[in-house]
Amino acid sequence: MGQNIGAGPSRPQTPASPRPEAYELGEWDFYNITLNITPDVLIPRPDSEHLVDVALEFLRDRAESPDGRRPARLLDLCCGSGCIGLAVEANAPGVSVVWGDISDAALAVARSNGCGDARVLDALSPPPPDLGVFDAVVCNPPYVAPDDDALDASVREWEPPVALFGGTDGLDFYRSLLPDWLAVLRPGGLFAVEVGYDGAETVSRMAREAGLTGVTVRKDYAGHGRIVYGYTQPHKRGARHG
Ligand code: GLN
Repeated sequence: MGQNIGAGPSRPQTPASPRPEAYELGEWDFYNITLNITPDVLIPRPDSEHLVDVALEFLRDRAESPDGRRPARLLDLCCGSGCIGLAVEANAPGVSVVWGDISDAALAVARSNGCGDARVLDALSPPPPDLGVFDAVVCNPPYVAPDDDALDASVREWEPPVALFGGTDGLDFYRSLLPDWLAVLRPGGLFAVEVGYDGAETVSRMAREAGLTGVTVRKDYAGHGRIVYGYTQPHKRGARHG
């Protein structure tokens, strides 16, 4: 595990841009929480707050899951600092969160932020069988194409390549998530991902092709489609399920 990371360019040895403030401070605000941040994790972005909103809207009234017997379960995949799951947990107490990332260094940061159940998960491979079933999966995967000129110089120079680059066209992670990771969702569960500034249309199509219903795009503060989300098929009336 972990051998397929670092497919993108590596960090330049001598950055021309100043060290980002978040790495200087060692902490950064996101949603309504403050996180420990090191150069092993992406600096949390306001864009990703919309991913928190989408998850909260789905989970807030379900601290208990629809069967009323167990806490609603959320998986934060490619979790980095843990920011998405932590912001959901802080605003929907009672939700049970599992955090996963391919990077041990990122998981150490996530644990320092209070992510109790944080484990190595490789989003480019199918989910391990012992992961269990979730009510919602959120993921902010690496989605930058290595030759994308729109990538800020500071981001390219300072932030972890493993968290940024998603293969030649930036879509490798969505190809794996859709459909393989839908298998960990219960019927009627929420699947929500962040996408690049020009990725919403393609990822929406992939989501529909993978069988999600109600596929919707939420825009970021700049007006780009940024979050793509949808739902696994609900149980058929009278259908038996285990
Ligand atoms: N939004 C980040 C950027 O373009 C990238 C985040 C990601 O790849 N998940 O700077």
